[in-house]
Order: sequence, then C-alpha cells, then structure tokens
Amino acid sequence: MTGIGFELLATDGRARRGRVTTAHGSIETPAFMPVGTAATVKAMTTDAVAATGAEILLGNTYHLMLRPTAERVAQLGGLHRFMNWNKPILTDSGGFQVMSLSDLRTMSEEGVTFKSHLDGSRHHLTPERSIQIQHMLDSNITMCLDECTPFPATPAQAESSMKLSMRWAKRSKDAFVERPGYGLFGIVQGSVYPELRAESVAALSDIGFDGYAIGGLAVGEGQETMFTVLDFTEPAMLKQRPRYLMGVGRPSDLIGAVRRGVDMFDCVMPTRSGRTGQAFVRRGTINIRNARHAHDERPLDAECGCPACQKYSRGYLHHLFKANEMLGPMLLTWHNLHYYQDLMRELRQAIADGRFETVASALEARLAEGDVEATTDPLGKPPKPQKQNRPPKAEKPATPNTADQDTTDE
Ligand SMILES: [Zn+2]
Repeated sequence: MTGIGFELLATDGRARRGRVTTAHGSIETPAFMPVGTAATVKAMTTDAVAATGAEILLGNTYHLMLRPTAERVAQLGGLHRFMNWNKPILTDSGGFQVMSLSDLRTMSEEGVTFKSHLDGSRHHLTPERSIQIQHMLDSNITMCLDECTPFPATPAQAESSMKLSMRWAKRSKDAFVERPGYGLFGIVQGSVYPELRAESVAALSDIGFDGYAIGGLAVGEGQETMFTVLDFTEPAMLKQRPRYLMGVGRPSDLIGAVRRGVDMFDCVMPTRSGRTGQAFVRRGTINIRNARHAHDERPLDAECGCPACQKYSRGYLHHLFKANEMLGPMLLTWHNLHYYQDLMRELRQAIADGRFETVASALEARLAEGDVEATTDPLGKPPKPQKQNRPPKAEKPATPNTADQDTTDE
C-alpha cells in the first residue's frame, strides 16, 4: 500500500459509508475525530477516548511545534508513542492557529513568520516546514499548509487567497515523503464562491492527494451557507477519495454534512463545551450548571452508555461543576465524545442499511425537541403559579456555537 487506502462501502443518496486504512489501523467513515491539541485530548486518558469508539485523533502542529517541539516528539518515538495512542492520527498544518493565536504575523509567498503566543519567540512556517514537522510527529494524515480565507471575503480577496493556497498545496505535495500507510490531504478553499471552489477542487485534483478537505468553513458563515457551499463543492470532488470537513461542528452540522457526502470531521466542541458544563444529548444541549439540574436524579441522557450517564445523576454532575471539581469536566467530556461517536455509529449504520434519510430526519427532529424538564425539587420552594404554564426556557449555551473552529488554546 502506498499512501492511505479508501474503500467506499455503500452510498445512500449523497451520504457515504467508507473505510480509510492507514499504517496504524483503519477508520470507519463517516468519522468524527476528537481534538488532541497538545498531544492530549483534554481531561481524557487515551484509553477512555478509545472506549468512546474514536478511531482517529487530531493533533495540532502549531501547538506541538512550539511545545515540546516536533524534534522532541520524534526523539520520544513519535506522537503515537509519546501520547500512548496507537491508532491513526491526523495533524493539521498549523496555519489556522498561526492566524488565530500568534502575534505579529507576516505573510509572504514563501510562508508565514510569527511570534509564539507562549513566549514571544519567532518562528517561520512554510509549506515545506509544516510537512517536515508533521513527518517528525509521525502523523498518518498530513494536511497541506494553506491560508484559511477569512469570512467574509470579497471575491478578489478569496481568489488571491485560494490561489496562494493552491501554490502552497503543490509545494506541500513536493515536500511530502511518501510511505505506506501515510497520506497527504489537500484543502479546498474559495470562500462562498462556486467558481472559486470549483477552480480549487480542479487544481488539487491535478496535483493528486490521498484525500481532500473542505476548508474555510465554520468561520462564522452560518449553517445554511455552509450547507450551500457543500452543495456546490461536493459534486465536483473525487468520489474515490475521503472528504474531510475541517472544524465542524455541532451534531446538526454533522448530520447535514454527512447527508452532503462528507466522510470526516473534527471539532473542539464536544471537549471544550464539556469542560464548561455543556452536554450534547439526543434532545439538544444541556447546561449542567443550570439550577434546574440540582435535584435531578436522571442521567444526562438515558440512552447513553457512557460512565457519566450510567453511573451518575444530573444532580451529582451539577454539584461537581458548582464545586469546581475536576471530575465534572472529565465526565462531561467523556459523555460528549461518547455521544458524538454514537451519532456517527448511527449514521454509518443508516447508510449501510439504506435508511439514511429516515434515521437522519428522526435524529434532527429529536435534537430540535429540547430537554425535558425535571419534576419539582422536593427540597425547593414551590414554583410561582405564573411560571407553571410557561414552555421550558431554552438554556443559554455555555459556549457560543457560532465559531466552531479552534480559535483559542484548546
Ligand atoms: Zn453519556
């Protein structure tokens, strides 16, 4: 095997059931990749991450090149061994976080020079250097360095940014050392403009990659626009290669994107939200810090098999967050990752069974229903009469849902 393998096992409408094979094992798709920023999925051991069903993790080049450095990770046996994760790993190129985290960036045709957000030290990231770093990390899926076009962008801005990314994609391909079980993905840019997305898909297909990512989305354009971009971008993409939608997203984003032919996803939402008390459940989202959970004996989600749901009540989880106990973020992170993997398992099964639309619509309908209120607190004051007939209030999310991408230090 050269590069990474991809087998398209079934399709249902535009939804695809597939399998990616790498030197460290295979990944059933559609797949969700938890984000392991600094060689750790925050608040989780790798055994726990694997127990949720995750088959691949994402590592961040930007964070790892600054600390502990790619050279150190290589000296300690590569990222798999370093973090005790023997399954596939995908690394990003570092470009997105250079743009969002570092100071004093200077962009040129050659690459980007920036100051570390950790200690102010100066670094230079080029397509070649990014590929070299990801090689040292021993990443199974390497991403090309690109410029994530900001949103909104004028057609002229989006075009020059996309064209720079295409030149960098060619340089990335030239720098990539091919070996069995390791692959390189190109990244489609072009903002919200159909001609530019089409030109980007064609340019990348000419160069030839193991897989194709769709970049520049989940940057504030909104779900409807994101789906529109997928609708005009996906049909032009090669059928026999995996498609990866970067930085997405909420459960409803995943369902809608799988419907539109996407195979792979990553997002900090389940982990970051879990740490701040937001749980993703089958009926939408719950903010466990909300007072209404204090006396609630029910689990977060009665259908979930994770330890947080099997062994603990909402009342206990609420208490942990109120008391700032570290077990709270650990259990909610575990639950959120488990829920995301359950969702992907269900979608994969639905595609294999030829029932995608039925299952997806049912999942979407339940997500829209919202949480069911608990009964009255036996230790609390009786509810005020004027509030009794009000519909349950939508809970304020613990974290904003608009920008899904990793703009802070996850
Ligand atoms: Zn759970």
